[in-house]
Amino acid sequence: MAVLSKEEIGQEEVEKFYQFCKKSIDMEVASYLEACVRCGICAEACLFYMGENVSGRIDPTLTPAYKADLLREIYKENYTLLGRLKKLFGFGVKIKPEELKEQARLAFYTCTNCDRCTKACPMGIDTPRLVSIVRGALTHAGLTPKDLADATNLSVEKGSPLGVDTQTFLQRLEFISDEYEVNIPIDRKPSEYLYIPSSIELMKFPSSVASAAKVLNRAGVSWSMSTVAHEATNFGLFAQSREVTREMLRRVLQGAKDLGVKYIIAPECGHAYQSMRFIAPNVFPEEWDFEVLNIVELIDRMLTEGRLRLKGKVLKETATLHDSCQIGRRGGVLREPRRILKELAEDFRDSVLIPEHNICCGGGGGVLVIGDADYYRQKAFISKMTLFDKTKARTVVCYCANCMLALTKSSQELKRDYRFVSMVELVAEALEEET
Ligand code: SF4
Ligand code: SF4
Repeated sequence: MAVLSKEEIGQEEVEKFYQFCKKSIDMEVASYLEACVRCGICAEACLFYMGENVSGRIDPTLTPAYKADLLREIYKENYTLLGRLKKLFGFGVKIKPEELKEQARLAFYTCTNCDRCTKACPMGIDTPRLVSIVRGALTHAGLTPKDLADATNLSVEKGSPLGVDTQTFLQRLEFISDEYEVNIPIDRKPSEYLYIPSSIELMKFPSSVASAAKVLNRAGVSWSMSTVAHEATNFGLFAQSREVTREMLRRVLQGAKDLGVKYIIAPECGHAYQSMRFIAPNVFPEEWDFEVLNIVELIDRMLTEGRLRLKGKVLKETATLHDSCQIGRRGGVLREPRRILKELAEDFRDSVLIPEHNICCGGGGGVLVIGDADYYRQKAFISKMTLFDKTKARTVVCYCANCMLALTKSSQELKRDYRFVSMVELVAEALEEET
């Protein structure tokens, strides 16, 4: 199941890449590949293209449509008359091994799967889907970027991309419970809700985990964490390895079944929500019988129902909101964080008129862990800054720990003074005192 990161690229890898791409072209993918009219509108939607542009450079290779060009060539060669004739007369697609390195740059370093280009495209082309096929083909050929391959393999071996095994998980929960004075039930049967944190939160933002626990305790629901399902992230998605995606979801399924829960609460983590909410029901159509909610959705629901009450606005300074692409634009959870933030902030200024138009953090889709992609992540942050600066806010509220980490890193690297805070932490701080 391990994903590889070979340094040598030869004909075998080229062949594997080609065959994977060919096999992945179904009718839907073919329609996307056919429909592109080369209008270029998607370029201005892509944070990587925009980031270079703001910096005074135009890099046409960062146009979303371009990222699927080799896949399009493979499609034409196999499924169009002209392409077949070309091949017959010796003018077929010839991929040089070094071109696969360029494919890795396009698919792994300069696309976060944010979906902004899809919304902008007049033809409705799902470019992230096409880029995911290219990622899958590279992984199939053993060409996953090394940092990403290491984190993915660690997920399978230890249970988390940061190497958090069950023992470390329990130690961290003990620490969080003591440090933040919060009760955290573990493997409590039966429970109605299973809350699964991400290891980014456990290791880097422990107060987020403590805050989620405080909120769940205060809401009075029967909930638990699980030693079987202790990792919400799914690096199989980033590497586009079906085996790893399935294995990570199988652990979640097992943990949820063991506790007999009805609800799985995804943490402040975008792709964790995607994988459990949208992918898992397709991977386990018979067994996946849970409602998956993001913690922000749950909080919004509880506030609306009056099961949680806030004492007032705890955020005094001007603040704006950063949307997680996977929870927000792709997951449809855009109104909820805004409703909550209006309850928390005295001066909330949205950076976008249409919430779907918000810009990605630049580190999603695994880009954050790939050291060789740092240049592009920082460029993407420059396009993100244009939105922050429009609002004049220095405080940015996030509902994804991966976004928060990526934004904090890029902000520090570029010597900016933004402050990024977790929405769930703010909610925990604002909870009305118990009477
Ligand atoms: S916006 Fe759509 S149709 Fe236009 S170039 Fe991009 S992918 Fe092609
Ligand atoms: S999904 Fe996002 S990052 Fe990827 S090409 Fe489209 S706009 Fe760019």
